[in-house]
Amino acid sequence: MSSSRRTFLTHFGITTALATVGGSLLRAPAVSAFEAGPSQASTEGGRKVGYCIVGLGRISMGEFMPGIQISKRSKIVALVSGHRPKAEQMADKYGVSHQSIYDYEHYEEIGHNPKIDAVYIALPNGMHAEYTLRAAKVGKHVFCEKPMANSVAECEQMIAACRKADRKLMIGYRCRYEPTNLKAVELIRQGYAGTLQQLNCSFGFNIAQHEWRLNKKMAGGGPLVDVGIYCIQACRYLTGEEPVETQGVSSVVTHDGRFNEVEENLVWNFRFPSGVLAACSTSYGTNFVGDYARAMGSKGMVEVNPAFVYEGLRLTGKAQGGKPLDIQYHDPSPLQFTREADYFAGCILENKEPMTGGEEGLRDEKIITAIYQSCAEGRPVKLNA
Ligand code: NAD
Repeated sequence: MSSSRRTFLTHFGITTALATVGGSLLRAPAVSAFEAGPSQASTEGGRKVGYCIVGLGRISMGEFMPGIQISKRSKIVALVSGHRPKAEQMADKYGVSHQSIYDYEHYEEIGHNPKIDAVYIALPNGMHAEYTLRAAKVGKHVFCEKPMANSVAECEQMIAACRKADRKLMIGYRCRYEPTNLKAVELIRQGYAGTLQQLNCSFGFNIAQHEWRLNKKMAGGGPLVDVGIYCIQACRYLTGEEPVETQGVSSVVTHDGRFNEVEENLVWNFRFPSGVLAACSTSYGTNFVGDYARAMGSKGMVEVNPAFVYEGLRLTGKAQGGKPLDIQYHDPSPLQFTREADYFAGCILENKEPMTGGEEGLRDEKIITAIYQSCAEGRPVKLNA
């Protein structure tokens, strides 16, 4: 098992071992961590963008901060935490002045710190909107973790606040900057698999007790909003289309107190304007739901598996009359995080709109809302493309 797969599972209290990806791999050339972003011209010999880390939890301490540490365009300049001793320890580790540690009550004081260009919001989903609004109000750009927020209204407020303050907003959809998923998109667009017909996507894990992810107010939903969102994204970037209809079914199998507020399992489908159909699943009740996106066309198929973890992603492809593909980039963790942090740094320095801005998070939130509506009403729900 790759270290990031292990880290991902350990983060969520999962101890069951998963099978490693075996077989000989065609090792593709290493992809630069900075390839996906705007040009580096503005940062070569220039300043780095200063990030204030908001929330010192698993993703920020385990991935994002180590990702920035090896970055060429970003640096950590401030921290926001409710635990001063932990924050001081992190500040010492990353060379941050203790004067640049803030608590949640005095968050607005970041507005007086000129070293801070942007905040990185790694709080529970239910806090994303509030901490985005407060950051924009004091003049900071916002890099917000996925899912963007808990409702369409919150997403719209976040977009409006950043627009009003003339600040940039980006959502942490790291797979959109990741070479294996990007290669799958390229192959599909080039017609490697022929005319696209169907997609299968799945992602989930067996969640531990006492997670904020099980609290509806904090999380906004269950595995759909947390990890199913990767499948929603994959369906959209692999097809290049917006779904026009969805139908979902959710269930709770395990009655041990974890699923009093959110679903344990959810399977759903999409219909796209071209007629392409997608079948997706997510779960908080099993580590064996998979981590993959498979696209099947008239002439062949492309599969990324694993597709959504932090490293060790692998692309395979088969096509009639074509060469079988087996590609794994050398892209160790935390490079996915370095890449997205630096991409956003480039957007700030070059005044460009991020590819995964607020509108992108809002689109997914509308889809999530429709899937939950379909589950609740037991019928397909139409989506406005
Ligand atoms: P976590 O529980 O490990 O960290 C949350 C942080 O928020 C902690 O530092 C906690 O102290 C702080 N916090 C402040 N107020 C809180 C409150 N009232 N209740 C609970 N925590 C509070 O969570 P995490 O797994 O790091 O997830 C944080 C965000 O990052 C989520 O939105 C999640 O979806 C996202 N995430 C993204 C990825 C990715 O790959 N992009 C991976 C994991 C998590």
